[in-house]
Amino acid sequence: MYKEILETFYPEMVELRREFHRYPELSFKEVHTSAMIVEKLRAFGCDTVEQMYNTGVVATIKGGLGEGKCIGLRADIDALPVTEETGALFASRNPGVMHACGHDIHITSLLSAARILCQCRDQFRGTVKLIFQPGEEAASPEDPHGGAYYMVQSGCLENPHVDAMVGLHNNPSAEGHGVFAMRKGVCTSGFDLYQFNVYGKTAHGSAPHMGNDAIVAISNVIVLLQQIIARNVDPLEAAVVNVGTIKGGSRVNIVPDFATAGAVFRYYNNDVAKVIYEHTCAVCKGVEEISGCRIEIEHHTGYACVENDDALTDLAAKAIKQELGEDSCYFMDRPVTGSEDFSEYHLVGGIPTTFMWVNARPMEGMPVAPLHNSKWCPDVDIIRHTAPAMAAIAVEFLNS
Ligand SMILES: [Zn+2]
Ligand SMILES: [Zn+2]
Repeated sequence: MYKEILETFYPEMVELRREFHRYPELSFKEVHTSAMIVEKLRAFGCDTVEQMYNTGVVATIKGGLGEGKCIGLRADIDALPVTEETGALFASRNPGVMHACGHDIHITSLLSAARILCQCRDQFRGTVKLIFQPGEEAASPEDPHGGAYYMVQSGCLENPHVDAMVGLHNNPSAEGHGVFAMRKGVCTSGFDLYQFNVYGKTAHGSAPHMGNDAIVAISNVIVLLQQIIARNVDPLEAAVVNVGTIKGGSRVNIVPDFATAGAVFRYYNNDVAKVIYEHTCAVCKGVEEISGCRIEIEHHTGYACVENDDALTDLAAKAIKQELGEDSCYFMDRPVTGSEDFSEYHLVGGIPTTFMWVNARPMEGMPVAPLHNSKWCPDVDIIRHTAPAMAAIAVEFLNS
């Protein structure tokens, strides 16, 4: 049992987690974090350890039973621009930066799994590849890619070729600490960002027919975007639009010549994203026609939906139950609304993947807070579930 092996070095991993939590670093700036990961992987006895895409780390552990398949285990390593308010003794010492998404726990979980697997080489064939991915939180309108995209482009899925990939995320929860939530098929939403810039012509407010009103035009666009969800997306598919920003105009008695609005669409089927894009273009074209304004669309594809492979998800569930008991995992009825760049490993890398959520209670004395909140600090005890689960899934896959 891998959980017993973890117990032999658990206190060290608790210390290590505190170290990661104390020194959180923003996306693609995980220099100290990355160096610590490299040092630990070498100390645990991995066969190869290399840095990739600057702050990413890829390591391998070869099984003692001979050649075979390769499974990838992924952890994201970046923190967020949040000022910590947990009051923890090991709270962030980097001002304005915090591990508010619990990625310090993900790092510690994967390092712990690596240490277990290094000690159990005689139990599996093939190779375990550990992928410590930078920049999961990085997507922005300037660059919609997160670190997963760049890691795949840098070759993290080759030499040796990764046959399947597993990832997990902590889920703040008062109940069911350590229980894994699995799902076949789509398990997170995908999203696209849109910015609309409307260019019109000013005129006196008393003579609007002499100008082209950018605010009336953007208002029409906003109303018609709702119609895409209501009239163009298949009613059995879920999608949602949020127009979260709007600006325009200068004075009440001037017909405005510029307005801008920003929107995000979320969806659970990557084909729906195409329908939304096509109809958004059509909406803007139509409004241009009736308003006389010019509308510029900035469209950025964000993270795609994470789509879990059925067979791999079943295998992972079986391995978790064997290691942690029958009640240690369940299948979710619905996907979660958040998004993850883990989707890139399947979408760009073209390999079967599965992504799981694990319920984590907060550190003692702290409330349950949402991910990205300044008060979210998962109880480190969660690695007693995540690390043995990752190790068990890897061995089950490699020996099957
Ligand atoms: Zn996050
Ligand atoms: Zn996260």
